Amino acid sequence: MFMDTADVIVIGGGMVGGAIAYGLTRAGANTLMLDEGDDALRTARGNFGLVWVQTKGRGLQRYQDWSRESSEIWTEFSDDLQESTGVNTGYEKPGGLTLCTSDEEVRASEEIIAAMKAQAGNGQYDSWMIDRQEIEALVPDVRFGPDVLAASFCPHDGHANPLKLLRAMHAGFQKAGGRYQPNASVVDIVRDGEDYAVVTAEGARYGAAKIVIACGHGIPELAAKVGLHCPTRPQRGQILVTERLQPMLPLPMGSIRQTDEGSIMLGVSHEEVGFDDRNTGDVSGAIAARAARILPDFANVNIVRSWGALRIMPPDGCPIYDESETWPGIFMTTNHSGVTLASVHAKHIPNWVLRGETPVGFQDFSVKRFKGTPHAAPPG
Ligand SMILES: Cc1cc2nc3c(=O)[nH]c(=O)nc-3n(C[C@H](O)[C@H](O)[C@H](O)COP(=O)(O)OP(=O)(O)OC[C@H]3O[C@@H](n4cnc5c(N)ncnc54)[C@H](O)[C@@H]3O)c2cc1C
Repeated sequence: MFMDTADVIVIGGGMVGGAIAYGLTRAGANTLMLDEGDDALRTARGNFGLVWVQTKGRGLQRYQDWSRESSEIWTEFSDDLQESTGVNTGYEKPGGLTLCTSDEEVRASEEIIAAMKAQAGNGQYDSWMIDRQEIEALVPDVRFGPDVLAASFCPHDGHANPLKLLRAMHAGFQKAGGRYQPNASVVDIVRDGEDYAVVTAEGARYGAAKIVIACGHGIPELAAKVGLHCPTRPQRGQILVTERLQPMLPLPMGSIRQTDEGSIMLGVSHEEVGFDDRNTGDVSGAIAARAARILPDFANVNIVRSWGALRIMPPDGCPIYDESETWPGIFMTTNHSGVTLASVHAKHIPNWVLRGETPVGFQDFSVKRFKGTPHAAPPG
C-alpha cells in the first residue's frame, strides 16, 4: 500500500537533493523528497559555504567548466530563491583568495594554475597569482602576518550562507508544490510494474516512475541495489567559528571567510578517519594557529563554535552523475561541492531526469571514468 506517489522521488534532502527537488518542482514535475530525521549525517549543515571555482576539476576539465557555469548563474539562482521564498542566501561574488604562507605553498599554487591552464587548452582557466601588496590592497582593513607571501586569486569565487541556502531551497520546493517527507530512511528500492517503489525503515512505501538517489553518505548502499556503483568515502573537515565582528574581510580567503552575519569561519581540515565526525583539540588548535599566523590581530578573538563534518568524497574529488542501465529512470548524483554546484543542479539535472537532456560533455561525470582503476565497479 503506497503512502504517496509522485512523478519523481528524490531520496535525500541535503544540498544536492534539495537543489534537484527545487528544480524539478519548478519544472512542473510532481516531486516527493524523502529525508532522514534530525540525527542523520548531514553534510549540508556542516560545510564552509564557499561557491568556489579555482582549483576545481584538475584531471577532469568538465568539472572546471561545470563549476564555472555554476558560479556564472549563482546570482540569478539566488535571486530566484529570494523572490519565491523571501530567504536571502547571502551570496556574494567578490572573487576569492587562496593564501600562501610558505615558498612551498607559492610553488604549489603556481603549479596548479599552470596545470589547469594547460588542461583547459584554450588558456581559459581564470585564476592568477597576486603578491602581498595586491592582497593588502584587496583586504585593506586587516594586518597580515609576515608569513603571508602571495595568493592565487579567482574572480569567479564567492560565498553564501549554506543554512539559508538549504532553507531557501526547501521552502522554494514546497512553495512550488513539492512534498517533503522527513523521518523516511529509504532502505530498499524495488520494481513495481513499470514503475518503482521505495521502502523506508519506518515501514512506508512510496511509488514513482523516476527516482533520484541524492542521499549523500547513504548513496553507495542504495545505488548497489539498482545496478549502480558509487565509490565515495567520508572525509572529515573541522571548522571553527568566531564571535561576530565588524565587516573587515571583503572576500573569502579559502579557509578564512567572514559570514554575512559577521562571524569568521576558519577551516578546513582533510582527515581520513571514516565515519567519525567529532571535532578534536589537535586539529582545531592547528586551524586556530594558522589563522593567527595569517591574521595576528585576531589571536584573541573568541571562538564560539566548532564542529566536524564528513565530506562525501569521490575518489578523484569530482562529481558522479549516472543513470542505471538496468533500472532505467533511476539516477545517482553525488559530489563534494554541493553549495557551489547548487545552481547547476537546480537548472540542469531536472532536464536530464525528466527528458534525458544533458549538457554537452555530461557523460564525463559517469562512474565509468574509473574503469581500470581500483574504484571501478566490481565485476558481475
Ligand atoms: C567541512 C566541510 C566543508 C565543506 N565546504 C564546502 C564549501 O565550502 N563549498 C561547497 O560547495 N561544498 C562544501 N562542502 C561539501 C558540501 O557540504 C556537500 O557537497 C553537500 O552537503 C553534499 O550534499 P548531499 O545532498 O550529497 O549530502 P548531504 O548534504 O549530507 O545530504 C544528504 C541527505 O540525505 C539524507 N539521507 C541519507 N541517507 C538516506 C536514506 N537512506 N534515505 C533518506 N534520506 C537519506 C541525509 O539525512 C541528508 O539529509 C563541505 C563539506 C564539508 C564536510
